[in-house]
Amino acid sequence: MRAAIVEAPGKISVSTVPDPSPGPRDVVVRVASCGLCGTDLHILQGEFAPTLPIVPGHEFAGEVVAAGADVTEVSVGDKVAVDPSLHCHECRYCRAGRGNLCDRWAAIGVSVAGGAAEYAVAPVANCVRLPDHVDVADAALIEPLSCAVRGYDVLSGTLGAEVLIYGSGTMGLMMLELAKRTGAASVDVLDVNPDRLATAGLLGCSRSAAAAEELDRGPRGWDVVVDATGNAAAIQDGLGRVAKGGTFLQFGVSDYATTAVIEPYRIYNQEITITGSMAVLHSFERAAALFAAGVLDPAVFISDRLPLEQYPEAMERFKAGQGRKIVVQP
Ligand SMILES: [Zn+2]
Ligand SMILES: [Zn+2]
Repeated sequence: MRAAIVEAPGKISVSTVPDPSPGPRDVVVRVASCGLCGTDLHILQGEFAPTLPIVPGHEFAGEVVAAGADVTEVSVGDKVAVDPSLHCHECRYCRAGRGNLCDRWAAIGVSVAGGAAEYAVAPVANCVRLPDHVDVADAALIEPLSCAVRGYDVLSGTLGAEVLIYGSGTMGLMMLELAKRTGAASVDVLDVNPDRLATAGLLGCSRSAAAAEELDRGPRGWDVVVDATGNAAAIQDGLGRVAKGGTFLQFGVSDYATTAVIEPYRIYNQEITITGSMAVLHSFERAAALFAAGVLDPAVFISDRLPLEQYPEAMERFKAGQGRKIVVQP
């Protein structure tokens, strides 16, 4: 089969590799689409300890074309989205039900071959069957949506809240869609890129601006502030805009070296919560249900669809910050 391969840091190609075969509790998925995201860039740069060479791609969906001898839950021909998480189920965190913090955290497309290929192997436990009406070529959006669902699990309650989101890339826009669904009283979105900001407006944010000062909010701040940029300046600004009793959620992925200053007195005196949300936890199935219910408009969220052979170009486009979700379709 054809597959994208990260051979060494900075080196990516599309080549022919052996077709995968399933273990007893695995399935082989014919990939319909595979999304690119910041994690893939980190892998290409040799971060997140990938085992090189590796086939990248942790956001994918497709059709089951082969099933291992002990698989009864899905059949050949089923459409599935694949949760890439590979938790060990043995460490302290897994035993506490917090597999996204697994001491031996691994993922399809990060630690083992992923979905940027014609076929991918996945444990049947990671597959969620999709209803007939879902276009499987759009279902690569379920994985990033499951990260956004996890974000709202951490927030545990936005009913009636006034929400501020930094960043209107794919993740910021997903956080916007879920803020609306979880009962936010208002959702304001910030982005320095006017094109991206226009999409936030299209999706019905309350107000949008390049910077928070433009929103004339007064000193109270926002009950919930979400960073979906990973950018140091945005994070620093956002930490200062949390209302009394409010919560700051670090959702964007920063470089390891990024730092921000906190004000301990204010955190104490105003009972401010600063927290984070890491990848997927018990949220994939619900994300698939939300996606099937139409929570995201794929025509808005997927900006570019390229053939697998153009994976290196797709990566360049992503790196340049163009568009929203870019997918390859083998
Ligand atoms: Zn991703
Ligand atoms: Zn574990």
